[in-house]
Amino acid sequence: MYESDTIAAISSGLTSSGIGIVRMSGPQAVEIADKVYRSVSGRKKLDDVPSYTANYGYIYDGEELIDEVLVLVMRAPHTYTREDVVEIDCHGGVVVMKTILDLLLRSGARPAEPGEFTKRAFLNGRIDMSQAEAVIDVIGAKNKMALSCSEKQLRGSIRDKINSLRHDILGVVASIEALLDDPEHFDNGNLTETITPQVDGFIEELEKLLASSENGRLITEGIRTVIVGRPNVGKSSVMNRLLGENRAIVTDIPGTTRDTLEETMSLNGILLNIIDTAGIRDTDDTIEKIGVDRARRYAEDAELVLFVADSSRQLEKDDLEILDLVKDKKVIVLLNKSDLEEKTGAQMIRQVTDAPIVSISAKYGSGMDELAKIVKDMFFSGDVLYNDEIVITNARQKAAIRDALESMKMVRKSIDDKMPEDFLSIDLTAAYQQLGLVTGESVQDDVADRIFSDFCVGK
Ligand code: GDP
Repeated sequence: MYESDTIAAISSGLTSSGIGIVRMSGPQAVEIADKVYRSVSGRKKLDDVPSYTANYGYIYDGEELIDEVLVLVMRAPHTYTREDVVEIDCHGGVVVMKTILDLLLRSGARPAEPGEFTKRAFLNGRIDMSQAEAVIDVIGAKNKMALSCSEKQLRGSIRDKINSLRHDILGVVASIEALLDDPEHFDNGNLTETITPQVDGFIEELEKLLASSENGRLITEGIRTVIVGRPNVGKSSVMNRLLGENRAIVTDIPGTTRDTLEETMSLNGILLNIIDTAGIRDTDDTIEKIGVDRARRYAEDAELVLFVADSSRQLEKDDLEILDLVKDKKVIVLLNKSDLEEKTGAQMIRQVTDAPIVSISAKYGSGMDELAKIVKDMFFSGDVLYNDEIVITNARQKAAIRDALESMKMVRKSIDDKMPEDFLSIDLTAAYQQLGLVTGESVQDDVADRIFSDFCVGK
């Protein structure tokens, strides 16, 4: 156990709610709770109750009744922190929770720092760093997909993968060390022959993990999306339809969406960061020009372009110009106003672009599910969502994996350059250590402190 004191914090949100949870962890947790808890009979001590029991009673400050509570007693080592943990479920009022916390602090507990419960779980070896980071991600998940990635990570998917890679790397280092220790019994040529495919395998695995972080970013942060099209085709209406509420101002006068707005929305679980732009078209009007220039710039940055065309009108030169402007992007054509009589159909659009075409009515909401499906296919090609693929979502872990990959490529280069074996060993060991950063095995204290300081108090 890394520390012997007992910490306490309010673990539920600090707002009025049905139930509030004040939590303690540490060797004195039960003893401190006993100082303030009274069972209904007044005789039962928490010290005597079995682990994992919920005990009904009251919290008293001396003779003053504070609240009616349920006290959960969980004994080490099978707890969140691997220490004794006591949770007091009280009424969820801010004053009640603060009063109980204050009482625990006066009775011998110390205020927990942000993330300190999880930090203890890490330091006591119950979880690794990737799981600790998954705890923050589960709490902060903005959509179901991000949540499911974090839940997998919380169960140890990344830890297991990294540990198995490290184990194999260590095996190769060991065989090199054996050669260096006992050169007479080792055939040099054989060694590089055996380790080359292994090193190639490591490179492949690391590249795969790194590639997954691109999906990870799209899942947790969203796809940068712009809606383009000439004025009045229905861009703001599409945006509003996606948002499910009328946030952007919709007008009948062409070119009145002057500025840009950015909104994050979840399209059947996929996060889109949509920038609503003024119609992209050449214009001399200065105010509008600002909007158009911005639209051009945003389109440059965008990962997805939703090109809106008005199916109730003929295609115009402006439509084609805008389409041309974004031709190198991932584009989806939204053929809007499908509720009106059709003047421009999918076949006509097909003659000018290969992009997928969805017929929609922003006004009545048709076609949105099909749009969601196309976005999913375009960005996630099915596999990330549906199988057990590991997805790296954390920037710190990604950096460590990238470094390990670089080291591994150095190993490959040393093999090609026929460098002495100890060269290989150095870079293999470096990769081993860099991967250890992901699981936290080779993380320095100050880095660990920084990671846990991102947590909320009580977690
Ligand atoms: P923007 O200039 O491209 O942002 O276009 P707006 O969203 O402001 O829409 C222009 C006009 O088209 C408004 O009068 C909308 O009500 C109308 N509109 C937008 N989408 C549809 C649609 O699907 N069907 C019909 N009938 N009208 C639409």
